[in-house]
Amino acid sequence: MRRFRLFNLALACALLINFPAARAQEAQQTNAANARPAAATATSAALPAASLEAANAITAARLSEHLHFIASDAMGGRDTPSKGLDDTAKFLADNLAKLKIKPAGDDGTYFQKIELVSFKVDPVKSSFRLPDRAFKFGEDFLVGAGRSASASGALVYAGHGYVVKSKNINAYNGLDVRDKVVIVAAGVLPQGVTRADLKGKAGEGDWEDAESYARKNGAKGLIRVPRNFERIWRFGRFMSERDNYQVARFTPAGGGMGELLVVLPSAALLDMLFAGEKRAGSDILKGIMAGEAGESFNLGAGKRVDIAVSVAAKKALTQNVVGVLEGGDAKLKQEYVAIGAHYDHVGVGTAVNNDSIYNGADDDGSGTVGVLAIAEALARGARPKRSVLFVWHCAEEKGLWGSEYFTKFPTVPLKQIVAQLNMDMIGRSKQEDDTKAANSNLSGPNEIHVIGSKMMSTELGALSERVNRAYLNLKLNYKYDDPADPNRFFFRSDHYNYAQRGIPIIFYFDGVHEDYHRPSDTPDKIDYQKMEKITRTVFLTASEIANAPTRPRVDKQLPQELSGQ
Ligand SMILES: [Zn+2]
Repeated sequence: MRRFRLFNLALACALLINFPAARAQEAQQTNAANARPAAATATSAALPAASLEAANAITAARLSEHLHFIASDAMGGRDTPSKGLDDTAKFLADNLAKLKIKPAGDDGTYFQKIELVSFKVDPVKSSFRLPDRAFKFGEDFLVGAGRSASASGALVYAGHGYVVKSKNINAYNGLDVRDKVVIVAAGVLPQGVTRADLKGKAGEGDWEDAESYARKNGAKGLIRVPRNFERIWRFGRFMSERDNYQVARFTPAGGGMGELLVVLPSAALLDMLFAGEKRAGSDILKGIMAGEAGESFNLGAGKRVDIAVSVAAKKALTQNVVGVLEGGDAKLKQEYVAIGAHYDHVGVGTAVNNDSIYNGADDDGSGTVGVLAIAEALARGARPKRSVLFVWHCAEEKGLWGSEYFTKFPTVPLKQIVAQLNMDMIGRSKQEDDTKAANSNLSGPNEIHVIGSKMMSTELGALSERVNRAYLNLKLNYKYDDPADPNRFFFRSDHYNYAQRGIPIIFYFDGVHEDYHRPSDTPDKIDYQKMEKITRTVFLTASEIANAPTRPRVDKQLPQELSGQ
């Protein structure tokens, strides 16, 4: 389960941070209408004896054995990309080969390779100069750049930097930005303008922001002074020192950064830029941090800056792990029931109690070994009519990249995937005497949160309930089964990418707990009996879908505003 993110964790966004992202978020939360009809009438039918026998072969002991391996310290928290993640991928592939499950990645392998790219500024080859002084990258300035770039020119200060035609607001009255470098506040709206006034995209309708204005009017670069200056600096510097991988195939040339060079100045650099001007740099900064950008003006004509930024692209490879168990029915084997989990976690990070390895036993080691246990049960039991597709996604924690990649570049036809069952965190349970607030939404030993099962297909929702009633009769908790839920769990794991492409999904999730995204999410804290119950139930649900005469009918579309985050 990925963290709730308000903006993209890229240095670029730290520098370019602006209102639209927050606005989109707000709009989504208010628009998300919850229109779920009541559950379909239940039908009760016994499950086939062979399926039950295969389900009962899924054991807590086996799940524990596998989880203790992939969530061990040796796997280093399975960051994307990392050796620990590659080792886990190999472990999964070796197991699939033993089970004689067919490879369904690239070129007859179990791996769907994904190229990653990280754009990093070379501090030595990057510079910011005033005629009589040079400044250092990382200390005096940071940049948002996806490619090497340079900018030279005289300076203008553009205040808040907005043009809002309907309100007769123009930060550039009397200024010519052509061939200049523009210094501008970021995150400060003109007086009398609210976020609600800025509809649509900058530069396309009634309003422009500094970036679109500068680009259209021939400015050479932008020096942004953010309102939350200190936080952005800390974050920007932290991000500039590490690799910030993106999926190469999702990344436009230049890292999606636009053509304009954008610089974040230090307070000391601002002082030098405004030395001898009508306002001091410290005064400008103080005003912006208080939400007051002040008037625009030209800086002294003789004052020029020369900025040069050298960006190196670093590449890495990672992979989804993909296998297919071919169905037994000549016709139905063309269709697939997809079962997935994410096998990555967040790697090594800030130490807590001297432990810096984020083992990710529950998140999502539990789902990872659950999918493997289902593969074992299916490979050993009676062959289902439809084929079963197993996908272990990478980089879920980075923003669902593995599932986005698989659904954009699928290795089986997407239209033939009849449903996707996603297990992300299925191993923890709340004990009766647990009164900790952090565990208040954790499901109990005989309970699991179920999300999305009825959102697109009434039939799928009904099948899920029928299987559960006929077997362990676990408590299926639908508390989060609502795209408008403030936790937004529906958007926060891999099934979302399948749902967005019209595939009905079921998401199984135990709930957030005290060890969520902490080094203490370790295999000894897992309730293996619960994991066994959930995994068996998901196995039976998948088997019933795989053997049903018809695929689950999609009778409801995701509300439009939800299909596209
Ligand atoms: Zn997570």
